[in-house]
Amino acid sequence: MDIAKIQQELNAALKPYKDEVAGFRSLPKEGLSRSDIVTLIAELSQREAPRWQSGKVSGAVYHGDPNHIEFQNTVYSLQSQANPLHMDIWPSITKFEAEIVSMTAHMLGAGQTEDEIVGTVTSGGTESILLAMKTYRDWAKATKNITEAEIVAPSTAHVAFEKAAQYFGMRLIRVPVGIDFRADVKAMKAALTPNTVVMVGSAPPFPHGIIDPIEELSEIARQHGIGFHTDACLGGFILPWAEKLGYPVPKFDFRLPGVTSMSCDTHKYGYAAKGTSVVLYRGRELRHYQYYVCTDWCGGIYLSPTMTGSRPGGLSAAAWAALVSMGESGYLEAARRILKSAETIKKGIATIPELRILGDPLFVIAFTSDNLDIYAISDVMSKAGWNLNGLQNPPAVHLAVTIRHTQEGVAERFLADLQQAVETVKSHPEMQGSMTPVYGMTTNVVLRGAVDQFLRGLLDTVFEP
Ligand SMILES: *Cc1c(COP(=O)(O)O)cnc(C)c1O
Repeated sequence: MDIAKIQQELNAALKPYKDEVAGFRSLPKEGLSRSDIVTLIAELSQREAPRWQSGKVSGAVYHGDPNHIEFQNTVYSLQSQANPLHMDIWPSITKFEAEIVSMTAHMLGAGQTEDEIVGTVTSGGTESILLAMKTYRDWAKATKNITEAEIVAPSTAHVAFEKAAQYFGMRLIRVPVGIDFRADVKAMKAALTPNTVVMVGSAPPFPHGIIDPIEELSEIARQHGIGFHTDACLGGFILPWAEKLGYPVPKFDFRLPGVTSMSCDTHKYGYAAKGTSVVLYRGRELRHYQYYVCTDWCGGIYLSPTMTGSRPGGLSAAAWAALVSMGESGYLEAARRILKSAETIKKGIATIPELRILGDPLFVIAFTSDNLDIYAISDVMSKAGWNLNGLQNPPAVHLAVTIRHTQEGVAERFLADLQQAVETVKSHPEMQGSMTPVYGMTTNVVLRGAVDQFLRGLLDTVFEP
């Protein structure tokens, strides 16, 4: 396939509404009627909703019950104008954010350690991770005069750590994981240098969902006097409840003395609307390195806890509302249902001889095939409406099980379609191709040669009107 043809196909996939609904290269001369606009947006939303509502998508929408969504929307609409940058105008948002941080911290071991656990609300897991890495860089510069800061992370750690290293001029040392897909403790230790400022582990990592040996890793970090960040963006709001339900959950939070920071996404299994996450630190001193303050700008003295300036207070209100409406019992029940559906799905995959589950996961189930092209299987699943996350090195796909998959019959339909997809690929060996998965896209793309440039071009396409 040539590049032009791929571009054409991608254009069609990314821009299905082109030529179909009104589009604007520049502002309309006269504003459109509000009712027409609402009708148009409602139509597009209704076209997109059935797929994720029915539980065909991996991750993405973690709760999704209509009454929960309506509740979130109501709360957001009550505070859609709020901006916590103006602390005196919207003290309610300050209250909500302080309590989001405190509730999240107490779920993750605050109160079970001598130290105070503090943090801030951010816009998402990536920002939580970016901020934590910047914090360690600045802490190490100030307290140890380290100017070439290094991060040591397992190869499975989220790409946001890579992004942090690039943005903040740090060096990321990626250490291959063991055959069980967990961080290799010995290799992680061996990767430390005098410039290492933080070691990273995930509970669990996005790709294969296998929790790293945080207890051993964080102890090594503690002995070396460096930071340890547990990335619990994905697991933070589900693992504490899985543990209470008796599932085997290794320790990963602030109960471990070496864990000095954590990221935990309210907008995933916290069931809040998209756009919030929490970054936590052991002690105020570390959090001070995250803050931005400027005292001599002519616009006035400026202080801001995170990367953005103005922030959507309505999203913090909605996140607070999600937390207090779920409560301990709500999160426990959600975890119980999700883990039960995940067990059904794991057992089902294990009965398909052509497939192999990677490691021993809890609720993010990665699998591959030793004799068939797993990406071809994933493509057949896509044609049946399913959206699996494509993984690479090694080739695999995963399903992140959410409340959507706990609906009646979803797990069974997934397994039936998966079995069918395996049969299809088996009887069509020509379907095996050199396809590459792109994070957040359903279809695998044929990528050869200048992949980096191609992906930049892909983002250009996204911003074409
Ligand atoms: C989702 C995720 C992130 C990044 O979060 P965003 O909200 O997409 O920015 C980081 N780490 C893990 C383990 C995740 O699952």
